[in-house]
Amino acid sequence: MIIGIDDTDSSEGMCTTYLGALLLDELQACGTVEALPFLVRLNPTIPYKTRGNAAVALKLKTCFPEKVIAHVLSRIEELARMECEKTNPGAVFILEKDYETLKPVLRDFLEEAVKDVIEIQKAKSLISKFGISSKGFKNGRGLIGALAACGAMLNPEEWDPTFEHLAYRQKGKWGTPREIEKESFFEADRETYPETWDTVDLINRLVVCVPHSADPVLFGIRGVNPEIVTKAARMIRAEPVDRFAVYRTNQGTDMHLLPAANVAEVRDMHSYRLEGTVSAVPKTICGGHVFFPIKDESGGQIDCAAFEPTKNFRELVRKLIPGDRVILSGSVTTMTLNIEKIEIKKLVPLYIEENPLCPECKKHMKSVGQGQGFRCKKCGIQASSKIRYEVERNIETGLYEVPPCARRHLAKPLVREKRPNIRVYPSR
Ligand code: ATP
Repeated sequence: MIIGIDDTDSSEGMCTTYLGALLLDELQACGTVEALPFLVRLNPTIPYKTRGNAAVALKLKTCFPEKVIAHVLSRIEELARMECEKTNPGAVFILEKDYETLKPVLRDFLEEAVKDVIEIQKAKSLISKFGISSKGFKNGRGLIGALAACGAMLNPEEWDPTFEHLAYRQKGKWGTPREIEKESFFEADRETYPETWDTVDLINRLVVCVPHSADPVLFGIRGVNPEIVTKAARMIRAEPVDRFAVYRTNQGTDMHLLPAANVAEVRDMHSYRLEGTVSAVPKTICGGHVFFPIKDESGGQIDCAAFEPTKNFRELVRKLIPGDRVILSGSVTTMTLNIEKIEIKKLVPLYIEENPLCPECKKHMKSVGQGQGFRCKKCGIQASSKIRYEVERNIETGLYEVPPCARRHLAKPLVREKRPNIRVYPSR
């Protein structure tokens, strides 16, 4: 059977992936684990999420489905942070006899949960239409993520999956500062990059795979296969690990991006790949956030942002000028596209205008008055107009991304980019 679980944590603690890892061990008493567990990341703009909008699915061969269901539900009741208003757990159980029927149905449901916004009623209707065993706690919103996770487990090779080794802390340490030896993360990265990524942020000198919240995760290493993430995890020196799990995931796949033909198609709470022309000089506002608008062919315009947490990426964005042609990837909230990646397709020449130089003394002439030309104060030589010359742009066409410390879970890192004939600038 496939077990999907979601929405068990709050910002004060717990993590659905931890519950998945725990159940993976405990359910071995009722059967055999048949595949790596699946960790899916869903629509990153959903306001109900606690952190990364994750849900998990486990696959088990069992002769005791009733026993499994009872155990999973009792663990959710015991461990989920029910006191939090935003925690609304859901669990679904798909029996083997239903795999073939539900494979395409839940595949589509997963796509929708990653790219779109789903009403709880839609999940409940699907559950009743196909007679799926399930349990929703409180308002049952977790049923959405639980079904979506089952959709991933039924279609495990789609979307070019990645892997994550998640190590969990001993219970007594939850909520306390994590004891880690930072240098060991840099060593693990040196040994396994580019087959692993987002362990550290070299440019900003940060360890990025260790969370700072009160949840049970000690660290998570992401990479191309289970062996490499485990190899890197073994190199980490830190406080004792209580348990770990290697998850198959849709992280780092760009699965959330919808192609948008123009700005008119763009809606809040969705993520896009959108082409346009920079239509004003980027502006840095208080807090260090950088904004600039792009325009499409029909004149539609949208603001795009490189927020302060994107650090050095903002230096690149500030070099854009009106007329540059770009393709942006990112999520849209309050009609602003939060940039994850930028493909600079075409750069326009940049000209600077200056007062003309005096041919005698080589000093800049002064304006005589509006529309009256220029004159050298010393030599008296006159000129009618300013001089214009092209300056170097100090920026290249190609693909750029935000640094690892600002990466969205679903965003595909450029080390995974396989497109030929394009210059790629991974953020390290
Ligand atoms: P957890 O570790 O508990 O999974 P989280 O940060 O991943 O924490 P959740 O607590 O799961 O976030 O909250 C997200 C909620 O939003 C879940 O109830 C999930 O079912 C729901 N959800 C996810 N994707 C969508 C979507 N596309 N449309 C509507 N609801 C969604």
